[in-house]
Amino acid sequence: MSERTVGERVGIAWLQHTCGICEFCTSGRENLCERARFTGYQVDGGYAEYALVPAAFAYPIPPVFSDEEAAPLLCAGIIGYRALRLSGIQPGQRLGLYGFGASAHIVIQIARHWGCQVYVSSLKPEHRRLAGELGAAWVGGATDRPPDKLHGSIIFAPAGELVPPALRALERGGTLALAGIHMTPIPSLDYDREVFGERVIRSVTSNTKQDGLDLLREAAAIPIKPHTLSFPLAEANRALQELKAGGYSGAGVLVLS
Ligand SMILES: [Zn+2]
Repeated sequence: MSERTVGERVGIAWLQHTCGICEFCTSGRENLCERARFTGYQVDGGYAEYALVPAAFAYPIPPVFSDEEAAPLLCAGIIGYRALRLSGIQPGQRLGLYGFGASAHIVIQIARHWGCQVYVSSLKPEHRRLAGELGAAWVGGATDRPPDKLHGSIIFAPAGELVPPALRALERGGTLALAGIHMTPIPSLDYDREVFGERVIRSVTSNTKQDGLDLLREAAAIPIKPHTLSFPLAEANRALQELKAGGYSGAGVLVLS
């Protein structure tokens, strides 16, 4: 049971509550709990001044981060971190990122800290520019083929058509992690070119509490610098429209004042 103290600064993630007794909850895989509840989906508080959360799902924020920097770590950061782990990437290896929004811009900072070379594909010029700034070894358009085979990759874009080319770009034995909650249909796969060689595809579902704690500890030690653009809560719709249009890179943050 996690204890939090009165006045402690904490953050809340998407996963807000799990049942605590199912086979997933009792084996450290509460992200797969079928009775999970999510902030802003089944429970209020994602867009409000006050929110209720079980203490175990409230994450202490390291002092190195401002409120505005901490917010994207609990959302984009946490799912990116789980995807990075599930990609199986090891220090010094080559990592592919498809789509370069809020999650990927945090993932690249962790992967670079691990000494990985990061290959980024993105449709959006603003996102490609930021990837270069953050030390990508290669930056290309959505359909460009990375120049080297990749040991692990993550698709952040909800675009199923990226799966076959991303598998072809993988090294034998590599893993492709699908980080979106939703993805358009995946076209049929060519077994010889895209699957054989022990390539692995796996989806990424929410996060465990341990993912959140580990990310915040590692992000503070590096330290990660989230690129943020803040909007007042009253302009949440504009923030979402600009996000959809690719109007900014990094993470949009709603500020309550
Ligand atoms: Zn459960």
